[in-house]
Amino acid sequence: MPDRRPLIAGNWKMNGLRADGTALARDLAGRLAAAGSAGFDLLVCPPATLLHAVGEALAGSGIALGGQDCHAAEKGAHTGDVSAWMLADIGCSHVIVGHSERRHDHGEDDAAVRAKAAAAHKAGLTAIICVGETEAERDAGEAEAVVARQLEGSIPQGADAVDTVIAYEPVWAIGTGRTPTVADIAAMHGMIRRRLHGLVASPDSVRILYGGSMKPGNAAEIMAVADVDGGLVGGASLKADDFWQIALSV
Ligand code: PEP
Repeated sequence: MPDRRPLIAGNWKMNGLRADGTALARDLAGRLAAAGSAGFDLLVCPPATLLHAVGEALAGSGIALGGQDCHAAEKGAHTGDVSAWMLADIGCSHVIVGHSERRHDHGEDDAAVRAKAAAAHKAGLTAIICVGETEAERDAGEAEAVVARQLEGSIPQGADAVDTVIAYEPVWAIGTGRTPTVADIAAMHGMIRRRLHGLVASPDSVRILYGGSMKPGNAAEIMAVADVDGGLVGGASLKADDFWQIALSV
């Protein structure tokens, strides 16, 4: 069994001003320092406006910094966008791509997600590639087929366990307080692991995160599921107590 160190990633989405973001970052850094050692990796993904300040607040803490999205191009006439190289330049090691809010709100399809992940790899970042079915797709019995298709379309050539993390996030579980059963999570993560064979190098070493209404009360039972290698946490990552409790559940 390959050693997959759990990753607990916080997606702050479009939340936080400088004072909030730096206070949260310092709080988490203090908890990790007080713990001495941890059996997990911690990552926070603040909005682009906070990357600099949060990066400074996290300096030397061991907590990684990530972006929430990147453009597929290195630079150019793309008003409002941020490139993977810019994220790397400001201290990011990771970037989330293909989050369902980007797929839905910005019409990003698998090809766009794959191009963003490829750019992230070229810039030296680890891409957290998000996949997940809608409620209608699950109700129609298509959840696994949809996620398999997203994996095949979104993972770039040459991806490996160092530069790629998969986040399974059922769309209907994001921000709703609802979660799949542990049996459904196990089935999906098992399917993802099998599908990774042929899509990435060292598929058994790729971390597969669960995301969608993870909180202190459900994190331990979700993290205990086979092939769940951590969490991508939205709402609960904005509260240091909750995020830290989730991390301690691995
Ligand atoms: C997310 O948006 O990545 C997410 C998992 O959100 P939440 O935890 O709030 O459901």
